[in-house]
Amino acid sequence: MFTLIDLPYKSLAPVISDQTLSFHHGKHLQTYVDNLNKLIAGTEYEGFSLEDIVRKASAGGVFNNAGQILNHNLYFTQFAPQPSLPAPTGNLAKQIQKQWGSLDAFKAEFEAKGTTLFGSGWVWLQANEAGELSIAQYANADNPVAHGLKPLLTFDVWEHAYYLDYQNRRAAHLSALWQIVDWETIEKRY
Ligand code: MN
Repeated sequence: MFTLIDLPYKSLAPVISDQTLSFHHGKHLQTYVDNLNKLIAGTEYEGFSLEDIVRKASAGGVFNNAGQILNHNLYFTQFAPQPSLPAPTGNLAKQIQKQWGSLDAFKAEFEAKGTTLFGSGWVWLQANEAGELSIAQYANADNPVAHGLKPLLTFDVWEHAYYLDYQNRRAAHLSALWQIVDWETIEKRY
């Protein structure tokens, strides 16, 4: 049985309003958890981790609901109301510098890929086994784990993530999210 993760903070306002946070975590994510538990009851997937389900399941309800739980768990746990690290340090900072030249150039590409992703999905910073980074657009519930890559940072561009606060202004929402990214968590994932 999968359960809804607890949030490691009370509020992310004003970047994400309390109303959006409450619906996104308490309603949308809870629904994915409930759906997956129903779908996998009595199947080979019972007892699997989310990562293993995502690696093994083909397109369909099991993949979609497991992928959405995995994506949201990584999304919600990467934020902090007042991040202790406002920018990456260490190996991740060096690799971003090497590949993009600056953190600002990296952020610009990340935001652009999130803004131009057509429909619902996620923009990800992901790493391969050699530690090389890339920014990817994944549709719907897809994610780096399904492609054999390590997930580091993600922005949710499903409308439910921002519509109550930003309406159609997806780019403004993505740009504001940097204020709450906890780079210490992203570093640990790398
Ligand atoms: Mn979402």
